[in-house]
Amino acid sequence: MTIAPCKKEKRHEADHYSWIKRRIKTEQIEKYLDNGKCFIDSIGIERSLAENTHPDPRRVRDILQKSLAVETLTLDETACLLHVEDPELLAEMQRVAAEVKVKVYDNRIVTFAPLYLSNFCVNDCLYCSFRRSNDQARRRILTNEEIRREIEVLAGVIGHKRLIVVYGEHPRSDIDYMVSTLQTIADVKVKTRKGWGQIRRCNVNAAPLSIEELRLLKDAGIGTFQVFQETYHRPTYEKVHPADTIKGDYLWRLYCMHRAMEAGVDDVGIGVLFGLYDWKFEVMALLCHAIELEDKFGIGPHTISFPRLEPAGNTPFVENPEHRVNDEAFKKLVTVLRLAVPYTGMILTARENARLRREVLPLGCTQTDASTKIDIGGYAERIDENQPDERQQFILGDTRSLDDVVRELAEAGYITSFCTAGYRCGRTGQKIMKLLRSGKEGQYCKLNAIITFREWLDDFGSEQTIAVGENVIEREIEQVKERLPGVYEQFLGYYEKTKAGNRDLYF
Ligand code: SAM
Ligand code: SF4
Repeated sequence: MTIAPCKKEKRHEADHYSWIKRRIKTEQIEKYLDNGKCFIDSIGIERSLAENTHPDPRRVRDILQKSLAVETLTLDETACLLHVEDPELLAEMQRVAAEVKVKVYDNRIVTFAPLYLSNFCVNDCLYCSFRRSNDQARRRILTNEEIRREIEVLAGVIGHKRLIVVYGEHPRSDIDYMVSTLQTIADVKVKTRKGWGQIRRCNVNAAPLSIEELRLLKDAGIGTFQVFQETYHRPTYEKVHPADTIKGDYLWRLYCMHRAMEAGVDDVGIGVLFGLYDWKFEVMALLCHAIELEDKFGIGPHTISFPRLEPAGNTPFVENPEHRVNDEAFKKLVTVLRLAVPYTGMILTARENARLRREVLPLGCTQTDASTKIDIGGYAERIDENQPDERQQFILGDTRSLDDVVRELAEAGYITSFCTAGYRCGRTGQKIMKLLRSGKEGQYCKLNAIITFREWLDDFGSEQTIAVGENVIEREIEQVKERLPGVYEQFLGYYEKTKAGNRDLYF
């Protein structure tokens, strides 16, 4: 027997649908179109791919020089790199990609954790276990008190300083919820071994927002606003995102970074969910997006993400995707992205297993996550346990702790940076683009990386990690003495104060 909904339930349902209907603001798409056309020219991309199938090694080497000069590549140049098959030339591309990364970002790797606050979602993306039609998903939205408990673990036990806060699209996690939860996160301060811990930068991964909502996020003090287009290939996009959902609107999503820029959110992160369509097409389209943002706003993407489709609970679509990207293709696409958009940050996630992360990170990645939990409430409630499949958005490949990842990075010669100074000192948007292209951003970052790494080792590092980490710090301090003599004394002052328990000192 079905029970007829009561009046209150009916009103609730009506509110829900009216919220969905009001989401897309057509005028906030149309104003950015060029003569009614969007910036993804699929025919142009296909043509460029078809015309560059036999790369001449001399041309490839010229293109590599352009990447080394930190210049964005053209579509044809990128298509040429995408078609390189010769193993020696590929190895050369990988070496140059690594060199570009060091030139722009030095030997630093930034770490972060994703924090999922809710898995209520009105959309129905075929590949995601949070989709509305998945009746096996256990829906949950965190309260302020539950969020505080998550942060106590993230900032007080693991030692993260940066989060990517992730929201489903739903009236319950609307802009008011976002703003209030970001405030809650910022307010938590936790006593640690020698000082105190706090989340100092919140990036946000959410559904596309309107200009007015993005202004509110800007005022809330977010770092990067991240939205992945998932696939730039429109027929595929329409196949995997049902037309009767908000996410079904390709252009509303495609232009969300234009709206962000207009709202003053000038650190934006773009990405593709690799495996939905041909990976070469998607790399070219990511480049088109970067070029469009550079052309229209003078600011390219702060980060590019390249998640691959992973298995997800009760989600048959991901069992055998037609365009699955194998490991070799994945390494190549990361290499080419690094070379094509040399100034951008590149995010490698714990979707990938530890072995592959070791191989892919040196190809030019700048950020990675660790101690990752992607079930709602997972940090506080299941910190030492495996996450049950039916609670996660998808299945992770690498669940190692931050301490393990930091130690491994230090052994490989990287310094883990917990620096969050950039956006707090106004080094965002055009300013950071200039600093990155000229290699100057590295100077501030080197100093801040050492100070924040010292903080983290003293507050959270295991004995083993401290031992390896201190070798890295010693070497880095020598480099500061040699390369930045003008700030060396002041830097040493900050470093000693940090060792004594002062926190959050930065350049
Ligand atoms: N709901 C928002 C949206 O769709 O933009 C935000 C977050 S969603 C939880 C974050 C990202 O996870 C998506 O943009 C998508 O790229 C990725 N994702 C979803 N399902 C996935 C899967 N099965 N494997 C790997 N990544 C997945
Ligand atoms: Fe919802 Fe995002 Fe998952 Fe799509 S990917 S179902 S929008 S949470």
